[in-house]
Amino acid sequence: MTSQRTRERLLGRLLDQGIKSMEVLDVMRSTPRHIFLDEALAHRAYEDVALPIGHNQTISQPYIVARMTEACVASGKLNKALEIGTGSGYQTAILASLAKKVYTIERIKPLLNRAKKNLKLLGLRNIDYKHDDGSLGWEEKGPFDAILATAAPQTVPHELLDQLAEGGRLIIPVGGEGRQELKLITKQGNEFNEGVLDLVRFVPLLKGQLHQ
Ligand code: SAH
Repeated sequence: MTSQRTRERLLGRLLDQGIKSMEVLDVMRSTPRHIFLDEALAHRAYEDVALPIGHNQTISQPYIVARMTEACVASGKLNKALEIGTGSGYQTAILASLAKKVYTIERIKPLLNRAKKNLKLLGLRNIDYKHDDGSLGWEEKGPFDAILATAAPQTVPHELLDQLAEGGRLIIPVGGEGRQELKLITKQGNEFNEGVLDLVRFVPLLKGQLHQ
């Protein structure tokens, strides 16, 4: 079901689609995705698709996780990274294997609790969690070398730009429901350079927090 062969096939797909970073590919190879899914869906864990995780949310597609992570690490060693939208915790696991410290924020409490449990099971201890609306970032912990949002706002929140370190990178899907642009914004001095990495489809970044 989650045989080494299906996992290797996924790696092949990531390579075919242009993922080049060996460190990202290695971490994708060694991180189990099935543990982040309900048992009923675990057999599909190594397909390159987004899948439901309850509460109307989805675990991101492996290719997009790889692409966003590659953009985070492109400028060298990651000291501090901030993730907005913990969801299942799968993207968090990939990031935490590459960054010294990861801060992650999720607005739906039961999702955050489940993610925390699974990330602890994987032995990842360099993660700080927060149950909150992440659209304002996490100012006390910043500035960050990379900020990665896995839910899409209509426009880029300026608070996130303000929390980037010099040379820091914000990777964020921007736009309405349906199709969004995955933006890569790099801080250089007082300027922000912006590019588009891909067209994507993420759940919306919503205001407020939910307790159940
Ligand atoms: N990277 C996650 C993707 C989860 S989907 C994974 O691979 O599992 C996006 C997540 O963003 C959802 O869990 C959703 O609840 C969360 N989210 C949406 N708006 C948010 C906000 N304002 N603050 C924090 N989390 C938010």
